[in-house]
Amino acid sequence: MPNPLLATTDLPDYAAIRPEHAEPAVRAQLAANRQRLAELLARPEPSFATLVEPFEEMQHRLNTVFAPVSHLNAVVNSEALRAAYNACLPLLAEYQTEVGQNAALAAAFAAIRAREGARLSAAQRQVLDHALREFRLAGVQLPAGPKARFKALMQELSRLHSRFEEQVLDAAQAWSRAVEDEALLAGLPAHVLERAARTARERGRPGWWFTLDQPTYLAVMTHADAAALRREFYEAWSTRASEQGPQAGRFDNGPVITEILRLRHEAATILGFGNFAELSLATKMAATVGEVIGFLEELAAHYVPAARRELAELESFAGRPLAAWDVPYYAEKLRQQRHAVSEQALRPWFPLPRVLAGLFEIAGRLYGITIRERPGVALWHADARYYDLRARDGTPLGGFYGDFYAREHKRGGAWMGEVTVRKRLATGAALPVANLVCNFAPPATGQPALLTHAEVVTLFHEFGHTLHHLLTRIDYPSVAGINGVPWDAVELPSQLMEHWAWRPEVLPLVSAHVTSGEPLPAELLGRLLDTRTFHAGLAAARQLEYALFDFRLHARAAPADAAALAAVIGAVRAQVGVVRPPPFNRFAHSFTHVFSGAYAAGYYSYKWAEVLAADAFAAFAEAGVFDAATAERFLGELLSQGGSRDLMEAFVAFRGRRPEVRPLLVQDGIAA
Ligand SMILES: [Zn+2]
Repeated sequence: MPNPLLATTDLPDYAAIRPEHAEPAVRAQLAANRQRLAELLARPEPSFATLVEPFEEMQHRLNTVFAPVSHLNAVVNSEALRAAYNACLPLLAEYQTEVGQNAALAAAFAAIRAREGARLSAAQRQVLDHALREFRLAGVQLPAGPKARFKALMQELSRLHSRFEEQVLDAAQAWSRAVEDEALLAGLPAHVLERAARTARERGRPGWWFTLDQPTYLAVMTHADAAALRREFYEAWSTRASEQGPQAGRFDNGPVITEILRLRHEAATILGFGNFAELSLATKMAATVGEVIGFLEELAAHYVPAARRELAELESFAGRPLAAWDVPYYAEKLRQQRHAVSEQALRPWFPLPRVLAGLFEIAGRLYGITIRERPGVALWHADARYYDLRARDGTPLGGFYGDFYAREHKRGGAWMGEVTVRKRLATGAALPVANLVCNFAPPATGQPALLTHAEVVTLFHEFGHTLHHLLTRIDYPSVAGINGVPWDAVELPSQLMEHWAWRPEVLPLVSAHVTSGEPLPAELLGRLLDTRTFHAGLAAARQLEYALFDFRLHARAAPADAAALAAVIGAVRAQVGVVRPPPFNRFAHSFTHVFSGAYAAGYYSYKWAEVLAADAFAAFAEAGVFDAATAERFLGELLSQGGSRDLMEAFVAFRGRRPEVRPLLVQDGIAA
C-alpha cells in the first residue's frame, strides 16, 4: 500500500495514516528535495521561474507531508506517534540548516533578485527578499572563520536554552507542600483541593499534597485566605532556578542567563549588528531599538499612573498596605464585589453550536464568505469536524478542521495550525486548509458543550488566525497566510477578532440559553462587558515591566553580567514598577519566553500587536462593527496579503495613518 502521507490529495487521509508512515515519508520527501535542488542549481542562468518557483513547490511539499504528523502528535498522542514524530525532527532540522547554509542557492537567489527584480511582482520580490534575509541571518556570507564560530554559537545557544528551561522545570518539580491542617486551606476552590487530596493519597500521605505547577500557584495566590500560605508559594515560585528561596542554588540559572546574553551578543555582532535587539528587529515590524523603547515608554506613561491608582484603591479596600502575594487575592475579592458575575454562571448562554453559528455569521457579514460543515471527511477523532469556506458566489476558498474538546492524549491550550498553505504555481495550485484546536470541557450527555465567555474569546482569537491563513490571496507559500508575517504583527488578526466577542451588538448573535433559547439578559451582558477593564492598569504595567526588562537587556552595547542584570531590573522597576516585589524575587531566572523561547528581545510583541488590533478595530467601530467597506479594505490591504507586503505599509494603507495607542487606552478604560 502506498504511503498516505506522500499522496497528493487535497486533504490528508487521516483514516489511513499510521505512526510507521511518518519517518519513511519524511525521508523520501527530503531525498526528493535534495535531488531536485541539486538539479535546479546545476542549470545555467537560473530565473525566478526555473529556480524560485520550483523551490517554493518543494518546500510546500515537505510541509504538507509533515503537517499531519505534527498535528496527530498534538491531538491524539501515543507512544508510537511521539517516537515517530521525534524521529523526524532532527532530519528536518538538519535539512533546514543545510538549506540555510547553501551558499550556491543564496548566490543564485541574489543574482535573480538583481537581474529580474524590476520585472517581478511585489509578492515575488518579497519571496526573494525574505529568503535572502534568512541566508544572511544564517551567516551564509561570512568568511570561513567567523562562519564556523557563528555555527558553534548557535549550537551552544540551543543547548543553553534547553538547559535554562530544564532547570525551571526541575526547580518547580523539586518543590511541594504537604498540608494536614484543613484550616490552612480555607478559600481554595473544591477542584484544587480534590487534586491535592488525590496526590496525597497516591503518595500514601494524609491530608493534601500541593505541587508547584501554574494552575495550583495561581489558585493559591488568588483564593487562599491564609496569607502565610500565599507567601510560601510566592517565595517558592518567584525564586525558581535561582540562588534564593527554599532551593537556593540547586538549579541556579544565574550563570546560564549571563552566558546566553554573552553568546547572543557575540552572534549579533558577527552578523554586523550592534546588539541582539537589533538582530531581533531585522525580522520584525518595529524598525529600530528607539522605536520599541519609545513605544513601551509611551504606554507606560498612561498605564503606570492608572496602575498606581488601582493599587491605592485596592489597599484602601484591604485596609492595609499589600505585599506582592496579597495583591491577586484582594483583587479577586474586589472584582467579585464590584461585578458580581461569575464565568461559570454564564455558561448556559454560550452553547458551542450557537457560538459557532454566530461566529460564521459574523465572518460572512464581514468578508462575504459562507462556512458549512462537510460530512464524510476522514478525521482523527469522532469529535472532530471539517468546514468548507466559500466566496458568496460559491467559489471554494479552502477549509478548516475543528477539534474543540479537551480529552486524554491531546495537548492543552488552543491554537491554529497549517495543514496546507495556499499556492498557485506553474506546478499546480492548492487551497489553504487549517486546524483550529481548542480544549473546551466536553459536552455532558444530551447537551451541547457550554462555554465560558473567556472560552468564547479564545475561539474568536483562533478563528482570527484561521481567517488570516484561509483568506490569503498570495500565490507563493513562503509569504502566504501567516507565513513571512513578522512576529510582532502575527497576532494582529487574532486579537482583532477578539474585539467582536466584546460588543453588545455582537453577543446576541453568539448567545442563547441552552434550554429556553432566551437571549442573554441585558443586565448580565452589561456586567460581563464591565469586567473587561477591571485592573487593566495593573495587568499592563506588569507586561510593560517584562517587555522593558527584556528589550533593555538585549539593547546594551556590551552583554550584561550579573551586576548589570540587577541594575537593569532595578532601573526598569524604578521606571514602571507598581507592586513592589520583595528582595528575594528572581523572576528573570524562570523567564522562559526570553531565555529559552522565541521572545528574546521580542516580548514587546504582545503589546505591539494589541495596539495594532485595537487601532484596527477602532476603524470598524467608527464605521459600524459590520461595515462591509471597512472589512473589504482590511481584507484587501492587510489580511489577504500575508507576509508579501511590509506590515507598516499595509497598516497605513488600511488605516490612513500609522498606528496609534489611543484606541487601546480607550478599550482598557485608561483614556476617555
Ligand atoms: Zn494567537
